[in-house]
Amino acid sequence: MSEKLADLYETILTELGEDPKREGLLDTPTRAAKAMQYLTRGYHQTLTEVTNGAVFESETDEMVIVKDIELYSMCEHHLLPFIGKCHIAYLPAGKVLGLSKFARIVDMYARRFQIQENLTKQIADAVLEVTGARGVAVTIEAKHMCMMMRGVEKQNSVMKSSVMLGSFRESQATRQEYLQLITS
Ligand SMILES: [Zn+2]
Repeated sequence: MSEKLADLYETILTELGEDPKREGLLDTPTRAAKAMQYLTRGYHQTLTEVTNGAVFESETDEMVIVKDIELYSMCEHHLLPFIGKCHIAYLPAGKVLGLSKFARIVDMYARRFQIQENLTKQIADAVLEVTGARGVAVTIEAKHMCMMMRGVEKQNSVMKSSVMLGSFRESQATRQEYLQLITS
């Protein structure tokens, strides 16, 4: 745990009008520093590490889809959470990726400060890189605390972003199949 980060949290509390010496806040700077380091641990991970050789030879060329992967990230504009789910589909070209690794890829990028649009693209590019697929599609639906708790204070708006690569981009039929599968 970074002492310096804890000290900075103490300063933040003081600047916000709190007394960091009162009982309830005594360990808060340390806890907050630990929590924030955990929430941004993606900075210390690499794609090779998180996929850890879980790419397997396979004959299948049918669409593989992993739906409703939980997503917790923080926006780079306000350092506030955005929370939602991510769907990933790909069309294998000789190689498939172990199921749990999709969630690990999502987590690695989500645990960095982000905007949703870039996060969607990073996940799609990563899946393409690891699998060499004919096409990759990624959709994220998320609620943003910076919109719900501040600013316009819209509680029910969901932001949806999609990135289509390869055959998902070129073929309307493939795209349609994907969209049907993620909404069914
Ligand atoms: Zn924001």
